[in-house]
Amino acid sequence: MSNREEWDDRVPKPDSDGVRRYGQWAGKPGGWPEDPKNCIVQIYPGGRGAMHRQCSSRRGRGRDGLYCAHHDPDRLARIKRDLDAAEARKKAAANAIEREGRRLVRALGVSAYVEMRGAGYAERLVVPFASARKLVARLEGLAERAAASRERADVAAARRRS
Ligand SMILES: [Zn+2]
Repeated sequence: MSNREEWDDRVPKPDSDGVRRYGQWAGKPGGWPEDPKNCIVQIYPGGRGAMHRQCSSRRGRGRDGLYCAHHDPDRLARIKRDLDAAEARKKAAANAIEREGRRLVRALGVSAYVEMRGAGYAERLVVPFASARKLVARLEGLAERAAASRERADVAAARRRS
């Protein structure tokens, strides 16, 4: 039901006498004629032997007041719009996470990957064991070099003072 036309597919076209008919089948070719007090949407209750039938809620909403509050095409269009907007937000969030994940993997310089669960949440960066080792070795090397350069600076400062 992305638009009014699609939704209208679920409303039977009136017969030549102007009356819609519901639940027509070989065993009941005339179906059930439209109740003019009720919503014109054809519903399918489901279950064994269920037949299509006219919605049993009072009409009065939507175009020409032919729909019930639940099947009001404007209401359904609004719901669809909200769902589409929520979907777009989720997709944008997922894309942002993917971009950030690629940036992190590049910055780490080891093989790693972003694991996503669903769109835009429950994500984690998976670093395989060998990559983690490489990464830690690199960090330890950086820390050692930093300590060594601090030591050299301290020695130089002590010399200047003496
Ligand atoms: Zn209805």
